[in-house]
Amino acid sequence: MENQHSELREINKVTLVGIIVNFLLSGIKISAGLLGNSNALFADGLHSLSDFSTDIVAYLGARFGKKPPDDYHNYGYGKYESLATLIIALFLGFVALQIFINGFSTILSVLRGDILATPSWWAFFAALASILLNEGLFRYALAVGKKINSDSIVANAWHHRSDGWTSIGALIGVGGAILLGGRWIVLDPVAAIIVSLLVLKVAVHIFIPAIRELMDFTLHKKELKKIYSTIEEYEEILDYHKLRSRKAGGKTVLEFHIVLDGDFSLKKSHDIADALEKELKGILGNSAIITIHIEPPSR
Ligand SMILES: [Zn+2]
Ligand SMILES: [Zn+2]
Repeated sequence: MENQHSELREINKVTLVGIIVNFLLSGIKISAGLLGNSNALFADGLHSLSDFSTDIVAYLGARFGKKPPDDYHNYGYGKYESLATLIIALFLGFVALQIFINGFSTILSVLRGDILATPSWWAFFAALASILLNEGLFRYALAVGKKINSDSIVANAWHHRSDGWTSIGALIGVGGAILLGGRWIVLDPVAAIIVSLLVLKVAVHIFIPAIRELMDFTLHKKELKKIYSTIEEYEEILDYHKLRSRKAGGKTVLEFHIVLDGDFSLKKSHDIADALEKELKGILGNSAIITIHIEPPSR
């Protein structure tokens, strides 16, 4: 128990450090991008802002979303988390498209002979700071994740390293634009376009599971197959139908009818449904909401 507590504290700490660093980085890079004439840094700053906001939603969602059901929210508060995630994904996708279009039209204007303003060294140093901080975050989170054996922390660590790579892209764009000057300043919007595509990818990646959950998508085929084979293991269950599944805030909701011998006692029938429910919870998690309707064969 004590061990579990200290692990939770470590997870909270590493998550909070990530949130704070991303907040600082988004402020530094967005202002360096705006004041230092760098589209690439602005795009990279936006990426940090998106990481910051999704981490906040994940963090608050883990607290608020797990609030127990009440009279007005019989299925709990989980969908608030999906809704917030969806809004972030839409916002992110919208801004990524803006940066993409902006970068594209800037490149076109260079091709028409326009000379761009040179990005300032501030933008260069902001990119450098971002690379170093993300690499530091990566090493810290990886060490913690390995120590407490947490896949999600390790995955998050690799996200920090990929953020560092994004900043390396921005650094090359800004550095090339400053050092080579003239027409080469076009390297900055080129880097911005590449970063915007990475942001767009993140947006799609977080949009899909959120919309699936909000629109009552069924479970994945693999999970459904496991459910079918579990039900079919019961010899007493003659048939089953009207199986419906969906997700509600991380919980699985499952309902179906089973057909049992009409001469079974109520107790026996209920025992079968109970045992099946328990076994399904072993697959779907204890928070799953499972409703089983019992009926005799129709002749
Ligand atoms: Zn990221
Ligand atoms: Zn039925």
